[in-house]
Order: sequence, then C-alpha cells, then structure tokens
Amino acid sequence: MNAHDSEKVVGTLLAEGYTQVDEPELAELVLYNTCSIRDKAEQKVFHRLQQFKREAGKGKVFGVLGCVAQQEGERIFERAPHVSLVAGSASYTRLPEMLVQLEAGNRRVTGLGLDTEEAFDTPYTRRDNPHRAYITIIEGCDKSCAYCVVPFTRGPERSRTSESVMREARSLAELGYTEIQLLGQNVNSYRDPSAQGWDFATLLAKTAEISGIRRVRFTTSHPRDFVKPIIDAIDGNPVLCNHVHLPVQSGSRAVLKRMQRLYTRDEYMRRIEWMKNARRDIAITTDIIVGFPGETEADFDETVRLCEQIEYESMFIFKYSRRPNTPALEYGDHIPEEEKTRRFLILQERQRAIQIRRNSTYVGRIEEVHVEGFNLATEQWIGRTTQHKTLNFSDPAFPAPSQNGTLVGQYTNVLVTRSGPNSLAGERVKAQ
Ligand code: SAM
Ligand code: SF4
Repeated sequence: MNAHDSEKVVGTLLAEGYTQVDEPELAELVLYNTCSIRDKAEQKVFHRLQQFKREAGKGKVFGVLGCVAQQEGERIFERAPHVSLVAGSASYTRLPEMLVQLEAGNRRVTGLGLDTEEAFDTPYTRRDNPHRAYITIIEGCDKSCAYCVVPFTRGPERSRTSESVMREARSLAELGYTEIQLLGQNVNSYRDPSAQGWDFATLLAKTAEISGIRRVRFTTSHPRDFVKPIIDAIDGNPVLCNHVHLPVQSGSRAVLKRMQRLYTRDEYMRRIEWMKNARRDIAITTDIIVGFPGETEADFDETVRLCEQIEYESMFIFKYSRRPNTPALEYGDHIPEEEKTRRFLILQERQRAIQIRRNSTYVGRIEEVHVEGFNLATEQWIGRTTQHKTLNFSDPAFPAPSQNGTLVGQYTNVLVTRSGPNSLAGERVKAQ
C-alpha cells in the first residue's frame, strides 16, 4: 500500500511539472514515505533522515509522508529540524498546494487532518511495474485491533466509487497491464459509495471481466468481513487468482479476544473450510503476531497447532511491537523480547517444514506463470503462479533476455521439477 501511495505521489508531482531523479543526492526535494506499523520501521525513518541532514544547508527541501508523519506530526520538526513538510496519507490530495506554500517561502507546512471523506483518487500515477498495477479501492480502517496504529495513522475507512475503480482498471488494461491488485487495509469491507452500491465480491467479479486483464489479486482481507460470495467469485472466474491472504494473528481464542479481532478461532476456521471446499485450489497465507501481551505458552501452542492444521502456503510472522496510542500498550503481562524471539523461531521452523512438504506436492505439475524478471546469477526466468508462488524456470530455446526480446510480462506454462521451502523451479513447456 505504501509502495502504491509513493507511485501516486510521484505521478501527482510529475503532473505538477516536477521531474524525478534517480539518486536523492541529485534531488532538490526529497520525500520519505514512511511506515510505523512496528517500532523498527519507525526507527529506520529517523536514521535515514539523519543521513541527508548535511544536504539541507545546500537548499534541499525534505518532507516526511505516511504513517510516521501522521503519528509524530510536528514533533518531527524537533527531531529532524531540516524537515519542512510533514503529511499523512489522508492529506495527499493537498500535496501540490503544500508544495506551493514551500516554494512561496513557508518554512514549515503540515497536512495532518484525518477528518476526510476522500480517498487519494488521482489520475496521475507513475507505476513502477509495467505489467502488474496496484489499484487502491478503500483507504483507512474502521477496526480497532488492540495492537495496531493504522486507524490512527490512516484515518477512517473511505471506499472509492466502483465507477472510478473500474475506469482505472479499464485504462490500465488499455495501457497493456494484464495483472491488477486491488488494495486496502480491509478490502472486504469495501462498499461502493455510489447508488450502484457494489460490495467487494461484486467489484472483484466485475474487474475480472475487463477485457485484457488476465489476473486480479487483492489484499488484505479481514476474517470478520470475509464472506462466502468472495470464494464463489474466485470459483466462478479463473482470472481471479486463487490466493487469499487471511491474517489470523493468533490461534488462541483468548488472545484473539484481547486483540479485539472481532472473530473467534471457530469463525476463522469456518472461512478456511469454505476455501478448502472450493472447486479451485486456493492458496491460503496469513500474518501471525507472537508474544502479544498475556500470550501464555498454551496460547502460543494453539497458534502452532492452528498453523499445522491449516498448512498455510506461507506466512509473515511478527514479534509484537508496542505502538503509541494503542490499547495493548496499557495491557499487563508484556512478554520479554527473548521469549518473543523464541516463539518466533519455533513457529518459523514449523512453518518451514510445512512449506517444504506443501511445495513438494507441486513437483510434476504444469503451472501457468506471469514472468516477472530474469535472475542473472542463476540464469533463470522468475515467474509467479496464480497462487502467488515464485516459480523460477529455464528455457533452452530462450535462455536469457536479448535483442530478440524477453519473456518478461508474458504468460507461459512451466513444468515444476524441483521445490524448496520458499520457491519452486522448473522448465518451460511449450503450449500444446
Ligand atoms: N489490515 C490488515 C489486517 O487486519 O490483517 C493488516 C494490516 S498490518 C499493515 C499488517 C500486519 O502487521 C498485521 O496483519 C499484523 O500481523 C502486523 N502488525 C500490526 N501491528 C503490529 C504490532 N504492533 N506488532 C507486530 N505486528 C503488527
Ligand atoms: Fe490494523 Fe486491525 Fe485495521 Fe488491520 S484491521 S489495519 S490490523 S486495525
């Protein structure tokens, strides 16, 4: 989501007449887009800001965007006095205006309001990838998970109209994009604000019908709002990738309750069952937080057991990180860092074994990949399956990109011949 925000900010500034340079040293204006989901990400921002402090004297202008900007606000000017602009994502529509203020000689400008009804809906986006494009469908979050800063940094939920999403998707298809990814903190609670009133499953099904679009992905899904029609849509159109990222966070009923996740372990398992019973082979991935305040050894065991039962294709594991303003900060029983690390490593090890086992079942299968690049070191093409698995492959007839062209951006079939914990490998097979 942050990567796409940056694409939109760059596009907006290009439309204002700015030009983009390759190195920060060459820039007159340097904007940092920031993440504050965990403390480590936030610390990185201040470290990076220090690196360019000397340049401020040479007339360079610095701005901080994103969640750290929203969270720290004007305190950033104290910690990093060379910064002139601080703006959270809910204020990006005002960026051109803020930059005009800086050009007019204002020393410091801020965009920190959260009381917006608008999404950052811009016709100007400078996309980094020529084949796969992100489309934000909903911004902000109305949930209040006890550990999470997002509701404080990205503001309340705002859905874009289905018409504007469809217009963007169609124009991407016309530009040659074949894969789109619908984005939001909680895409499942998408609700078209126009009279049409589409829900997420309808929007999903409609984007998949756009001529020229071969793959549609979406992230992130909140289990509470994840409804059966989403699976029916995936079952109904192979353009919708059979991959669902459904963060569970914990396998313990008690921890889920304290996290204020708004679903029980059983309710989550029901959604998993829907997917396991689907006609298509849906890859399920997740996020887990270990060491949430008060998580006992028994709670943690329940998480490990849930993961072994579901056998996720992959997962992101996070050690709980204290975040400002969040309810969990006030909870007792914070878990020592070493214990969080111990749990992290146990779960990581178990998940690695699951991935080795699951990935080995792909050997012998033919999978269609979207080719994303070429790895010079291994001399293999890098492909991505509909299930979002990396499948590296070779093709004796087309061993590398050359003046004769490239496979990047194409779709091709690959026979899986080997598997590892994190990826698959194989040989290209020609269409029958
Ligand atoms: N909206 C999504 C959801 O509800 O699943 C995810 C949003 S968040 C950007 C991505 C992941 O970061 C979460 O799923 C969670 O696992 C992790 N996360 C968020 N806050 C955290 C915290 N305070 N400590 C550790 N991990 C955290
Ligand atoms: Fe954070 Fe929960 Fe909202 Fe996800 S749903 S962004 S974890 S508050």
